[in-house]
Amino acid sequence: MSEKSSQVIRCKAAVCWGYGEAMKVEEIQVDPPKSSEIRIKMLSASFCHTDILCSNGFPLPVFPRVLGHEGVGVVESIGDEVKEFKEGDIVIPAYIGECKECEMCKSGKTNLCLKYPLGFSGLMLDGTSRMSIRGQKLYHLLSCSTWSEYTVIDSNYVLKIPPNLKLAHASFLSCGFSTGYGAAWKEASVQNGSTVAVIGLGPVGLGAIEAARIQGASKIIGVDKNGRKKEKGEAFGMTDFINPEESGKSVSELIKEKTGGLGVDNCIECSGVPSLVNEALMSTTPGIGKAIIVGAGNVQSVEINYLSLLCGGNLKGCVFGGLKLHSDLPTLLQKCTNEELHVEELLSHEISLEEINKAFQLVKQPDCVKILINF
Ligand SMILES: [Zn+2]
Ligand SMILES: [Zn+2]
Repeated sequence: MSEKSSQVIRCKAAVCWGYGEAMKVEEIQVDPPKSSEIRIKMLSASFCHTDILCSNGFPLPVFPRVLGHEGVGVVESIGDEVKEFKEGDIVIPAYIGECKECEMCKSGKTNLCLKYPLGFSGLMLDGTSRMSIRGQKLYHLLSCSTWSEYTVIDSNYVLKIPPNLKLAHASFLSCGFSTGYGAAWKEASVQNGSTVAVIGLGPVGLGAIEAARIQGASKIIGVDKNGRKKEKGEAFGMTDFINPEESGKSVSELIKEKTGGLGVDNCIECSGVPSLVNEALMSTTPGIGKAIIVGAGNVQSVEINYLSLLCGGNLKGCVFGGLKLHSDLPTLLQKCTNEELHVEELLSHEISLEEINKAFQLVKQPDCVKILINF
């Protein structure tokens, strides 16, 4: 182990001390990386809607914890066994790994990996933390914790980015936008000439629209109660817009009206509003259509129309849009580098880490799409 990789680093991080509490930007300690881990100096991070859920105890109420799961950084030091990365590499974190050897990876049906699972516990794979504050253990957010000047991540949850990819774009592609993109590309496998509805036109929904357009969908219906999202949706390829607040009808009724009463081939639910899970199912063509659920909600259960399901409804949930870290995400990063995507349309606000609480307010503004956090 080099001298550098054996030192504890003191740095600033956004700490959430309890359920629903505001962030406190405080000095924390970041331990050296263990054998398979790397320590990353963050260059940029971003705000994803799921961070709000995490400040409210999603997926598990572990506190105090360092939030943030989108970002891009430079490798500061590496553990003894790390071969794939070296100091100075520019990387993005992920919250799901891909070993390519386990039963799940080999199934070809899911991006969930048994060896490198979702880090719900907020701890490293060995069950310990690399972050602490005044001697107290800090929990990580999944395997990421990007709202910190330095973070330690197991190297199996990290990906190098292409050399010409802009840092802001790399950060945006580390979760939200890619999740939506993957949902349309990998989970729905949107077909040429098909019809697609996307509920919720935040960064996730815009990613789903982009993929639906690239896959050749003939009709892409965007749904959002914020009328300002119409223009954004169109920039990514949306052909029709529905503002459900403008009529007394349900979202599924409005989508069916746009498709001659039949419903769509695919409906991708990105809002995380529990009642819209059923609306997504109800808006698809029975027996043919498929509703893909990607929006994270902070509830235990949702109500589903039994008859719709029984009569051939397809409802499928996924994490990270079904994207595999090594098999799929590089394709997306390369498309972004080649300027085949409209990711530059996403950035609406920039803040410093010190201003992190402002992000929780900005995100409620109608013109907010993506907030970049600069270090
Ligand atoms: Zn695996
Ligand atoms: Zn996210």
